[in-house]
Amino acid sequence: MIKIAVYGKGGIGKSTTVCNMTAALADSGLRVMQIGCDPKADSTTALHGQRHRRTVLDLIREKEDQVTLADMIVRGYKNCICVEAGGPIPGTGCAGRGIIAALETLAEQGVYEQYKPDVVFYDVLGDVVCGGFSMPMRNGYADAVYIVTSGENMAIYAAANIAMAVRQFKDRGYARLGGLILNRRNVLQETEKVQALAADIQAPVIGTLSRSTVVAAAEEAGKTVIEAFPESSMAEEYRRLAQAVYRDALR
Ligand code: ATP
Ligand code: MG
Repeated sequence: MIKIAVYGKGGIGKSTTVCNMTAALADSGLRVMQIGCDPKADSTTALHGQRHRRTVLDLIREKEDQVTLADMIVRGYKNCICVEAGGPIPGTGCAGRGIIAALETLAEQGVYEQYKPDVVFYDVLGDVVCGGFSMPMRNGYADAVYIVTSGENMAIYAAANIAMAVRQFKDRGYARLGGLILNRRNVLQETEKVQALAADIQAPVIGTLSRSTVVAAAEEAGKTVIEAFPESSMAEEYRRLAQAVYRDALR
């Protein structure tokens, strides 16, 4: 089992990218689990087509220690395993602490042993200033971290912060920094800017995705590009990225 955490600025394309990687790896015969670590709880929607019914935190609130794994997971495309950590009731509680509680509950309940995934993706909201969201890169949760960025300054700034957080934890034997995923916004000098960031944080650009209207069309259909437009060049880009990230994480 290899565990991969994907970070990046809000709205940069983490969930879209991770869902397409999950679908691509599921297509290639791997058992894939995707865990959304975001109070919005919309990480896995494109994989199972339903607005998520109940999150891990909802279930903990409702059922306390009666909660079972079967309650917490939903099967998606090609039988992939979808989980949403969830978040606090708006206006109360700490979202970061919620992520910690959700991941701990999943581990205590034996989600990894029971479902035996080959690959686990954590799709994590970008705010690593809060310790809760750095949970997936600590305590043995993830083996490697990949950061989605474009060439926009705010995305690069967030990516640099995330890389710094990974580095802080690395010495303690936690997740290593795998590299960057360039999700293009087609800003000026985009490749050069992201390559400069890669040099700064001493991590490679593992893959690049075009900006494509096919992505919005798939989203409109409530599906991944892999499922909705498997013959498109964008689907091929996601397949290539998924293999590159998977191979790199296994190193
Ligand atoms: P959040 O931080 O809010 O969870 P996110 O990083 O998960 O956001 P997504 O929800 O995956 O971001 O994507 C944001 C929007 O960008 C979506 O509407 C998605 O369809 C679009 N998008 C992502 N990648 C691409 C792409 N390569 N081409 C075109 N549109 C894209
Ligand atoms: Mg998201």
